[in-house]
Amino acid sequence: MNIIFLGAPGAGKGTQAENVSARYGIPSVSTGAIIREAIRNGTEMGLAAKAYAESGALVPDGVVIGIIRDRLSQDDCANGFILDGFPRTVPQAEALEKMGVVIDVVISIEVPDEKIIRRMSGRRVCPVCGASYHVDYRPSKDGRTCDACGAELIIRNDDDPVVVWNRLVQYHEQTEPLKEFYGLRGKLRTVIGQEQVADTTRLTFEVIDREGDASGKENK
Ligand code: AMP
Repeated sequence: MNIIFLGAPGAGKGTQAENVSARYGIPSVSTGAIIREAIRNGTEMGLAAKAYAESGALVPDGVVIGIIRDRLSQDDCANGFILDGFPRTVPQAEALEKMGVVIDVVISIEVPDEKIIRRMSGRRVCPVCGASYHVDYRPSKDGRTCDACGAELIIRNDDDPVVVWNRLVQYHEQTEPLKEFYGLRGKLRTVIGQEQVADTTRLTFEVIDREGDASGKENK
C-alpha cells in the first residue's frame, strides 16, 4: 500500500509513519530526514537546502521532487511505502501523479495550532547525546541539564518559536490545500491527533486496515 501522511509540523506524522512502517513492513520515506542528512554531510543538495530548512521555509519543489524520484525508484519501495513530509505543495502532488505513482490513501493528522505551539516550544534536546525532553510532558530532573550525560539542554533550531510559527503559516498556506486535492480524488482520511500517541496510532491502523479490506473486496 502507498500511503501519504499529511499534518502540521509537530502533529506527530513522523511517529505515526514509523509505527505504520514497523507494522506493515513498508519503508517510511521522510524528505525532512533526507534533507537533514544531506545538510550534515555538506552535499551539494544539502548546501542548497540549508538556508530554507533552517528558517522553517520550504525547500524549492524541484529539489524535493528529485529526492523523491530517486528514493521511490529503490527496490525497498516496490511493495509499498509511506511518505512523511511529501508532498507539501500542490505542484509536488502533481509531480507525483506525473511520475505515475498511485497513492492508496492520504491520512491527515489533525492537531490544533495552539497545541502544536505548546508541544514544540517546550521541547528541549541534549546537544551531546541527543536525548529529548519536554518542559511539561517529560522534564529533565533539574529542568536544565540532561539526565543521561549532564550537558546543558538546548532548544533545537526547528523548535525556536519564530521558526515554529513560520512552519505553521507555510503549512496552512501551501500544504493544507492538499486536503482538497486528495479529497477530490477520494483518497483523504482524517485522524484526530490524541493526547496519547498510542491512541492516535490505534486510529491510524484502523484507517489503514479499513482501506486494506476495501481494496481486497474490490479486487474479488
Ligand atoms: P520535516 O522534518 O518534514 O519537518 O522537514 C524539515 C524541513 O525540510 C522543512 O521545514 C523544509 O524546509 C524541508 N522539507 C521537508 N520536506 C519538504 C517538502 N516536501 N517540500 C519542501 N521542503 C521540505
